[in-house]
Parts: sequence; structure tokens; C-alpha cells
Amino acid sequence: AAPLLQVSGLAKHFRVKAGLFGHATVKAVDGLNFHIRQGETYALVGESGCGKSTTGRALLRLTEPTAGAAMFDGRDIFKLSGGQLREWRRDAQMVFQDPLSSLDPKRRIAYSVEEPLIIHKVGDAAQRRKRVAELLERVGLSREHLSRFPHEFSGGQRQRIGIAKALALQPRLIICDEPVSALDVSIQSQILNLLMDLQSEHGLAYLFIAHDLGVVRHVADRIGVMYLGHIVEEADTDTLFSEPRHPYTQSLLASIPPAHPRLKTPRPILAGDIPSPMNPPSGCVFRTRCPHAMPRCAREAPPVRQLSPTQRVACHLFD
Ligand code: SF4
Ligand code: MG
Repeated sequence: AAPLLQVSGLAKHFRVKAGLFGHATVKAVDGLNFHIRQGETYALVGESGCGKSTTGRALLRLTEPTAGAAMFDGRDIFKLSGGQLREWRRDAQMVFQDPLSSLDPKRRIAYSVEEPLIIHKVGDAAQRRKRVAELLERVGLSREHLSRFPHEFSGGQRQRIGIAKALALQPRLIICDEPVSALDVSIQSQILNLLMDLQSEHGLAYLFIAHDLGVVRHVADRIGVMYLGHIVEEADTDTLFSEPRHPYTQSLLASIPPAHPRLKTPRPILAGDIPSPMNPPSGCVFRTRCPHAMPRCAREAPPVRQLSPTQRVACHLFD
């Protein structure tokens, strides 16, 4: 079957002021290719500034891409306008790292969850109230929570409300942008389990954005590892963890904290910071931090090699 979403050549470049009179181009996202199937979780993982959130925002048309296409149901979502764009904004929803950013602090949560139904003119007032109560119940809250305000909830409860709101319009794709990064570890798995249960109930596709491979290990079907605007490796989750090929993937895996924090202190393997996307390295974008960098890596950007039907890597070691 054709994928639900097929992203080709997605790029987002910004012009920014640099120095006194000059400008520079920041290539936040620089030619991404990936797809997501119905009912599948595809994770984009990388350090902050790698372009993963920009990718999510571009797909929701919260920022306009510079180039590329994103086919969904035979239509390029980057070309939609008017009624078709409104339809896309029902089909695709976002769950944010900080649910407070999608909940109005001055509104009772019954209203916040109902708001998308009002905007998209779904049902009458009584039908909407019923739907809101069902949604809250489904995410583990009760009717007595309906009249409360966002500040009266814990972080985990607020994320449950954010998820209820994202579900209101029965989307087919949900972009989860670091949905558990702000939560205690004990709460994280509850929220991840809720997301997984909802996925199988509704056949949802997730684009799951995270900075940590450990978080996506148990939720992702496939993973794209991002560095400075590029997917440097992509594989199904088992392969990525058992046979990581790209030096960056290998160092990300080495820095995952062990399951029991007191057993061993994780050793930071990656030296140095991500270079500025305003002034990325020539050739391979990872070369300034790569333990295997060769002279050729400074001259030529590595081509993408398909190592198996489910694994591809962009690194000269595999030419
Ligand atoms: Fe390292 Fe070169 Fe591979 Fe880049 S292309 S990851 S610098 S070995
Ligand atoms: Mg981010």
C-alpha cells in the first residue's frame, strides 16, 4: 500500500542578519525524504537545532517550506489552500512538549478541548459537550475535571488533556513534538502507553519527534536520525539499535543512560557542540565531530546508501 505521508526533498531555509550589513542563509532542514504508513510511528531523533521540530511545523503548515513535497492522500499538503487546507488541519494534529502552549490558562479545560470542534463546526453544543466528556474519560480524566483550569492539573494530566484536544477532530496523523520530555520518568511511560493504545484503537500514524533515542525505542516502528538538517541514517527500530551504521547514530546510542542510573554513569561520547547551521561544515555535516572523518569527508557530501530494504545511511564509510 502507498504510504499515508510521503515527504520528498523537504527544505526550510531562513535568511538571517549576520554581521553588520550581511545576511546568511540558515539551512534548518535541507532535503529530507521519509514516509509514514497508516498506523505507524516514525520517529525523528536528533539534538536540539537539528531541524526536527521545523519539519513537524512545516508539515502542519505552521511554517512554509522552502522546497519539497509532502503527499497525503494523493495531494501535496504544501500546495493546499482554502477548504483543502482546513481539511488538512483536521487530518493532522500536534501534541506539544508543553501542553500549556495549546491550553488557554484563562479557560476551563472543557472549552479548550471543545475549541477545535467549534472552529471546525462539528456537531451542536450538546453533541460537542458529550464528545468532550468522552475524550477526557478516554485519556484517563473524569467529568469533574471539565470545569477546572489548566494550572489545577499536574504536567502528566495536562499532557492527557493536550492529547484529548488533539484527538477531538479524529485526525489520521498526529505530530508528537517531544511529548514526554518535560515529564518525570515515571509519568513518561504512562503517557507513551496511552499514545500507543490510542494508536491501535484509531489506526493513527505518529510522527514522533525526540532528542533521545531511549524515549522512542519502545514506541517507534522506524527511526530517522537527524543532524544539521539532514537524515543521516534511517532504519527500523530493531536494526537501528542492534546495527547502527552512521557514526552519529552510534554516539547517540552510546550516550543513552543505562536503565538503572546508579549502575554506571553514562559517558558522553560526542565531543563538541553542533556547528552553527549558519556556517555548516563543507562535505559531510557531521565531520567536525566524527571519529572516522577522512579528507574526503571535507570535500564531498556523502550520498545516501540503501544498505537493506529498511536501512539507509549517508556516510562515506559505506560507499
Ligand atoms: Fe564521518 Fe566521513 Fe561518515 Fe561523515 S562521511 S560520518 S565525517 S566518516
Ligand atoms: Mg524542538
